Amino acid sequence: MRTCAGCRRKAHRSDLVRMVVDRHAATATVVVDPRAVLPGRGVWLHPQTDCLDRAETRRAIQRGLRVTPSLPIDQVRAWFESHV
Ligand SMILES: [Zn+2]
Repeated sequence: MRTCAGCRRKAHRSDLVRMVVDRHAATATVVVDPRAVLPGRGVWLHPQTDCLDRAETRRAIQRGLRVTPSLPIDQVRAWFESHV
């Protein structure tokens, strides 16, 4: 079981999407890892925009990934907008 960084409820990992920091990009960015295969620390969210909104308000993704709060999650937002 994993905890959703948005609503803090526990769920099976197959019901959540994983996010990781892509450190290969020129500047580190948070990306969605839909198949949960990328290395490194991950943060999990329900694939629902309200969970993303709640996580964003609390900077929970950045805190979970132990990166600076200013690290943008634009790519995560874009993924949610096109997949949910
Ligand atoms: Zn949630």
